[in-house]
Amino acid sequence: MKKTTLLLVFMFAVLCSATAKDTSNPILRFDANGKFKIIQFTDIHFKYNSYRSDSVLIMMKAAVEAEKPELVVLTGDVVCSENTKKAWLALTKIFVDAKVPWAVTLGNHDIEYELTGDEIMDIITELSYCVAKNGPEDVSGSGNYILKVQGSKTKNAEALLYFIDSHSGLDEEKGLGSYDWIKFDQVQWYREQSKKLTGANGGKPYPALAFFHIPLPEYNEVWGQPTTVGVKEEKVCSPDINTGMYSASLESGDVMGMFVGHDHVNNYIGTLHNIALVYGQATGRETYGDIGKGYRVIDLYEGERKFDTWIRIKYKANRDEDLWEPTHINEKQNFVNYPDSFIEN
Ligand SMILES: [Zn+2]
Repeated sequence: MKKTTLLLVFMFAVLCSATAKDTSNPILRFDANGKFKIIQFTDIHFKYNSYRSDSVLIMMKAAVEAEKPELVVLTGDVVCSENTKKAWLALTKIFVDAKVPWAVTLGNHDIEYELTGDEIMDIITELSYCVAKNGPEDVSGSGNYILKVQGSKTKNAEALLYFIDSHSGLDEEKGLGSYDWIKFDQVQWYREQSKKLTGANGGKPYPALAFFHIPLPEYNEVWGQPTTVGVKEEKVCSPDINTGMYSASLESGDVMGMFVGHDHVNNYIGTLHNIALVYGQATGRETYGDIGKGYRVIDLYEGERKFDTWIRIKYKANRDEDLWEPTHINEKQNFVNYPDSFIEN
């Protein structure tokens, strides 16, 4: 081979590996204004080849285009469908096409179809711009992982995002409640990782958020507080068994807010001892829910223990009234700033 041909081959290989690296391992960083915007879609319950699901893809695509987030997070009950793999590919194509990094935690309904949690994670983690990981093998669940958000001007981590698998439903006849719980080894893993990261940050806990599907029992405690914002139209469907994820976070001192889905007609946010307990706005149109469908936005501030969050409701409650055109209720709803909105006068 001629030297010039060799050089060309070499340059092509370098170019290919650089491109592959960009799409398979995108870097999360604060933007030039020191903000990091996340869109949380939850409970999409996407079905392959269904007009209601397809209409939601239109809304999600428009949301990504309009909000220009640094990251999209799907907090469980993403795909509830036969042709499970095809459905995941159809849905996540939005993020691949938009070249936006996306992360996932699985919900109780995700694993009721053709694929196990591990199989789903193995498929999606191969896709472009996916930043989800299938987590340490020796920790319970599929998809326990941590993402670091780099500073706008440095490669140092400035914030952390924890993703934890909250598992599935339980056989109620066993008398242990309707839902499984975050296992103690997951809580232990979180504690160890958090401690290690805080140590690496000179003993100062990073500003962090946590994402999972099923709300913790503590979500009951913030409802009805004077500073809690949003609606609660069903009971908090949390596990009966409390394995201490909340108290572990309180002691570790890094998590500012926990973001879940699961209960489609709850979208409130309140704080318990300085940790915000937050529901997303349910997104999908295949299942129950009469408070409209949309998404939550979270805007993190670089170098501060601070974030803004609000919801946008894009579809009315009646699923057939505005089937293809979202109703464009465009204002930010239920806007709060953490921690300022939760300091009582
Ligand atoms: Zn759901």
